[in-house]
Amino acid sequence: MRISQIIADHAATFSFEFFPPKTEDAAGVLFERARELAALRPAFVSVTYGAGGSTRDRTRDIVIRMKRELGLEAAAHLTCVGHTRDELIEILENYKAQGVENIVALRGDAPKDADQFEAHPDGLRYGSELVALIREHFGDAFGIAVAGYPEGHPETPSRLRDLDHLKQKVDAGADVVVTQLFFDNRDFFDFRDRCVLAGIDAPIVAGIMPILSRAGVMRMADLCGARLPARLLSRLQKADDDQEVANIGIDWATQQCRDLIENQVRGIHFYTLNRSGATTEIYRRLGARDSEGLEHMAES
Ligand SMILES: Cc1cc2nc3c(=O)[nH]c(=O)nc-3n(C[C@H](O)[C@H](O)[C@H](O)COP(=O)(O)OP(=O)(O)OC[C@H]3O[C@@H](n4cnc5c(N)ncnc54)[C@H](O)[C@@H]3O)c2cc1C
Repeated sequence: MRISQIIADHAATFSFEFFPPKTEDAAGVLFERARELAALRPAFVSVTYGAGGSTRDRTRDIVIRMKRELGLEAAAHLTCVGHTRDELIEILENYKAQGVENIVALRGDAPKDADQFEAHPDGLRYGSELVALIREHFGDAFGIAVAGYPEGHPETPSRLRDLDHLKQKVDAGADVVVTQLFFDNRDFFDFRDRCVLAGIDAPIVAGIMPILSRAGVMRMADLCGARLPARLLSRLQKADDDQEVANIGIDWATQQCRDLIENQVRGIHFYTLNRSGATTEIYRRLGARDSEGLEHMAES
């Protein structure tokens, strides 16, 4: 089922993101984590797409296995990096043949050895072009989610322009927006209000990452520019060890989720980092055993 339809049918959805590991053994471990998280009955899961190499095929394999073996609605991320238009069409044809119904359509980031994103000479420059390509060649065969940036995208200093670009993606046919991770809900609420003003009517799903370690959160903040509020930073600085950092991460993310649900968020997408413990614990603290429980919270 299309993610937009699942969201329309529920008061609030709960979903998980995984990344494809580099080795076959690690892929097996990921599958076990996903099996544990499947017990929470997420509305959908998604699997990211790497900058190149063997993990790209693994994205496809994991998406298909999650759908078939775990019965999860699994969305495949796809980026424009290094691909011609024809290659993108071929990948999508394969997904369609395998019964995959949702694509997270992205431009992608520059590979590690390059300074900035360069479109393939026969490829696409922006996420909006990928959305348009999917609609042009596949009509309504896929639900399409795109990325939104509550704190703005690092390459576009003007938030207004960045929002125009998000609108282009929705106008091209995207039916869901999933946000970059953020640690201060005020950024999300303001972004959501600005989307309404800009006429972006697709449901907006909030991206939440439970902090697992100091090094991990710094790496993520470097990568995507997420702002760490002073109140969170000071708690992290005072923590004695990794276990305490992880507990603070769970506390913080739980409070974020509670506040988002109280404020009618349409969905929460967890950046699980391929672990199951923190997400399961947050779910328990929210008082929901599965997505039905989360829905009751959203309705009450
Ligand atoms: C939910 C989510 C999932 C992600 N999954 C992956 C993944 O699986 N793999 C991966 O490699 N990366 C992933 N990313 C990271 C993403 O690829 C990067 O943030 C990338 O830099 C931008 O991708 P985009 O699709 O948002 O690009 P776009 O929407 O194309 O935007 C990229 C930049 O170009 C600007 N822009 C857009 N259109 C125009 C235009 N017409 N004229 C001028 N400027 C324009 C935008 O404002 C922005 O600054 C994900 C991010 C999010 C939030």
